Amino acid sequence: MLNGKTALVTGSTSGIGLGIATSLAQQGANVILNGFGDHDTPLRALQTLGVRVGYHGADMSKPAEIEAMMQMAQADFGGVDILVNNAGIQHVANVEDFPPEKWDAIIAINLSSAFHTTRLALPGMKARAWGRVINVASTHGLVASAQKSAYVASKHGIVGFTKAVALETATTGVTVNAICPGWVLTPLVQKQVDARAEKDGVDSEEAKRRLLAEKQPSLQFTTPEQLGGLTVFLCSPAADNVRGVAWNVDGGWAAQ
Ligand code: NAD
Repeated sequence: MLNGKTALVTGSTSGIGLGIATSLAQQGANVILNGFGDHDTPLRALQTLGVRVGYHGADMSKPAEIEAMMQMAQADFGGVDILVNNAGIQHVANVEDFPPEKWDAIIAINLSSAFHTTRLALPGMKARAWGRVINVASTHGLVASAQKSAYVASKHGIVGFTKAVALETATTGVTVNAICPGWVLTPLVQKQVDARAEKDGVDSEEAKRRLLAEKQPSLQFTTPEQLGGLTVFLCSPAADNVRGVAWNVDGGWAAQ
């Protein structure tokens, strides 16, 4: 379905980004990976799907590195057709204890990076009269939790950014949407599971159960594969007129 398209997925060396990159590659899209840590293993895994795979190690908190990545996408792949703004970090603390440098990093990586990739990708998408911008927000783009002020601000911000750019592109072949996962068991959440286990003096399984019971009525983690499936749908012709939505995949969290 996506043969000949190029997808750039930020923060795709692990977790949700890798799940989304895999789903897009399974549909025939060429993929540019980005993120820290081991990138060789995911790169080789995606190559076995018979698509072209590239990698750029841009630090998404640094606009100049983002520009270099977008230039590489243009030079090596002819531009970006599907932009998935997924890179993100978390820090958990009360606002008066929140380190200012963590606040700045969360806003830069979770929010401002999407502004930079989007402003640089849009002209090519518009010229080709087709494009998809999919922002990985969070249920925390719709509702808040205590001790996550920077994360909640960044995710509410990216939902607002999604709506504004969806309006600017409403008469074009480019759609802009957000997806809002609830708990997904990735390295980002494993840290919170470990912290909960330590705080409550319970094992990891019990900590997971308690985290889910607090927020996610289905009592099940959302999976990267499910988020990949939604991303593929948003890239399909059936979604040509889906614009500016923030679509939760959260086991009922935001319905409460
Ligand atoms: P993860 O920690 O598994 O993956 C994060 C990815 O971002 C990694 O590839 C990492 O290398 C990359 N990254 C981090 N900082 C970066 C930087 N400065 N520059 C470039 N890459 C960077 O986390 P995840 O859970 O897969 O999170 C992915 C996205 O999904 C984030 O935006 C997160 O907020 C969002 N999300 C996660 C959950 C969840 O429960 N895990 C829920 C809702 C939303």
